[in-house]
Amino acid sequence: MDEPSLQRDGFLVTSLDAVLNACRNDSLWYLTFGLACCAVEMMEAASARYDLDRFGMVPRASPRHADLMIVAGTLTNKMARAMRKAYDQMPEPKYVVSMGSCANGGGYYHYSYSVVRGCDRIVPVDVYIPGCPPTAEALVYGLLQLQRKIAATRPNAHYADLAR
Ligand code: SF4
Repeated sequence: MDEPSLQRDGFLVTSLDAVLNACRNDSLWYLTFGLACCAVEMMEAASARYDLDRFGMVPRASPRHADLMIVAGTLTNKMARAMRKAYDQMPEPKYVVSMGSCANGGGYYHYSYSVVRGCDRIVPVDVYIPGCPPTAEALVYGLLQLQRKIAATRPNAHYADLAR
């Protein structure tokens, strides 16, 4: 017997995990969190040429409405506490992309007294994007990798962990 199809039978059989993952993947609202020059490439990725909106990714000015934090730039010790606070205000499930050498490990400023040697010392990172700065294309590619990662997770298992 043929599998039921939306076009022929008007319904589909799928799993709740697949539906939740599709909803999350196609509505990754990212916090506008530019710290330095990498933020210009992040803005470029949102422009008409690369058009992140087509993936359902739109910028939000409030952490309480955002699923994704793109750490775009040099994170200083002074800013680290504010960044962590913004991360804590984001609702679960939330994701972090580290964009560029500075966010990944301090970059040119690795030995500076004032710079955090990687934003993963402050927040958990899902995807790292190399480069100084990474291009807008590299950011788009990194975000597609994040979507693949989310698609491979089991959201129900996540909620079961939270309920414990
Ligand atoms: S990685 Fe390069 S472009 Fe990005 S914030 Fe650091 S110095 Fe600027």
